[in-house]
Amino acid sequence: MNRFTRRRRTRRIRLIVIGLFLALSAGSVWLTAETSSRFLRSDLETRVSAGLQVQAGILESHLEKFRVLAPVVARSTNAEAVALFIDEQVGKRVAAIAAGMAGAEEVWFLSSRGRPIASSLSDDLAVMADGNRMIDKAFAEAAQGQLGRQLLPGSPSRPPSYVFASPIRVENRLVGVLAVRVPLAPVEQAWALTKVPLAATDADGRILVSNRPDWRGRLISEVTSGNPLHIVRQLPVLGWEVHALADQSESLSQVWRAMLIAVLLCVILGGLLFMLAARWEAQAQRGRRQRAEALRLERKVLHRTAALRQANAQLQQEVQDRQRAEEHLRQAQAELVQAAKLATLGEMSASLSHEYNQPLAAIRSDADVAEMLIVRGRAGEAVGNLQRIGAMVDRMAEIARTLKGFTRKAGTDVRPVDFAQVAEEAALLLRPQVKRTETELVIRMPQEPIVVYGGKIRLEQVLVNLLSNAVDAARAARDASGQPPRVVLTVTADGPHALVTVDDTGAGVPENIRPQIFEPFFTTKETGAGLGLGLSIAYKIVHDFNGSLVLEDGPLGGARFSMRLPRSGGPWAAGKTEADQAPAA
Ligand code: ADP
Repeated sequence: MNRFTRRRRTRRIRLIVIGLFLALSAGSVWLTAETSSRFLRSDLETRVSAGLQVQAGILESHLEKFRVLAPVVARSTNAEAVALFIDEQVGKRVAAIAAGMAGAEEVWFLSSRGRPIASSLSDDLAVMADGNRMIDKAFAEAAQGQLGRQLLPGSPSRPPSYVFASPIRVENRLVGVLAVRVPLAPVEQAWALTKVPLAATDADGRILVSNRPDWRGRLISEVTSGNPLHIVRQLPVLGWEVHALADQSESLSQVWRAMLIAVLLCVILGGLLFMLAARWEAQAQRGRRQRAEALRLERKVLHRTAALRQANAQLQQEVQDRQRAEEHLRQAQAELVQAAKLATLGEMSASLSHEYNQPLAAIRSDADVAEMLIVRGRAGEAVGNLQRIGAMVDRMAEIARTLKGFTRKAGTDVRPVDFAQVAEEAALLLRPQVKRTETELVIRMPQEPIVVYGGKIRLEQVLVNLLSNAVDAARAARDASGQPPRVVLTVTADGPHALVTVDDTGAGVPENIRPQIFEPFFTTKETGAGLGLGLSIAYKIVHDFNGSLVLEDGPLGGARFSMRLPRSGGPWAAGKTEADQAPAA
């Protein structure tokens, strides 16, 4: 998945999650509002209806108290007398006592025709007659022998009252009516103590009693419109209804509060979710970045490994090439060594032919003498000649053998070699040259055998070269100074090494050419006399044997070539390098 697709997908998921969260939040807020309003409404309903019951009870019990007052007073003999004799004086007293004791607003007597007799309140009969007209319904009921009831409606400024009327009978004959006016103001005062608006209505729905004085006389439907919580209780005896109109504003504000809390909780939850999501997102991003980094590293490693492998292959190839080149070089060197040897031989050939010619001539003359002696019958005298011939042949054979060995191609192996033998054979090979140049060759060997580690023919080659150069230099010096040429070969044991020095009475090596004498093809000799290979090959051979070859100033006035070779058989045994051996000794 590429980055853009992933980003688009992430954005889509984020939108879906936000949408879901908003929907859920809205749902929870709605649920909170619904549940809380239902709960608060039912709670309010319970409270209000309980209050309504109490308040309705107050109204009922208030009226109930006065309901029995009228019949009780009407049946008394005093009342009968007042009605029978129209006795205003007694009537007024009885009415005042009854009203005062019961707490009625007014108690008054009426004749059977409905005319006023006496009242607890007023003496003015005209006013009373007005009042009587207002209670015609209650009077009519009482005249029929029932308990008359009638409401005297109030107005916003005047509280209503209720009238009970009871017949006064003498021997089953209606003689008058006793009316009791009950004030409803105490009920309204008791109702005024509750906050809930209360109203008692008649069958038509007109408000008779209320703790809101301005409602008196109005229709209940007018005041309840718009108020949703309206509880009604029937008062069957009175034929009334008591209404309670609950004030829902507090419940509503509580619902709003609950909703606000729900919204706040949603906001907090949303914030938390947002933070969590942001952290998840950051973590995922970090993980992705780490994975990408690991992948990049892996690729880098792979790349580097490939490069390394390639370099390795290249190196191997180079090593092979080098080995091959070394092999070629070794071959070339071997051939060069051989060439140098042959060159030395070439240089020595004149002396060698002299070496052979001299004994051949001696053999020839000895053979002639022996022949002559034998012919003359003096064979016994020929023995001496023959013995000399034999000795000379032996010598020539030895020279031939040494030469043959020297010309043989040198091997590459290294083994212990007795240096005395090397010196002896080199001297033998050089003898013709030494003799010809009348050089004195001195060889100083120690008593103990000096066994070095090397190849015999190659060591001989080195020594022949050094000695031959020394003889050449000594003879050349003799030509210049007249000093008899002398070459000294000294072999000594020097710790783990054998020290071989070749000194001559030559003129030495001039300072300016010293750095060059070990270079191949460097020679100061005239053309044909030297190839300039001798020292360079000698140097190479000695180093191959882990030895060293240096030029020094010799004690005889000429050059000194010092050669160190590792000795064999000691604690510095075979195969070790010069550097390894030196400190061990
Ligand atoms: P070549 O003998 O064919 O010249 P070398 O490599 O053997 O080649 O010698 C190189 C040169 O070193 C010689 O030409 C000579 O000048 C100088 N040299 C070698 N040995 C001696 C010596 N003992 N005394 C003086 N010079 C020497």
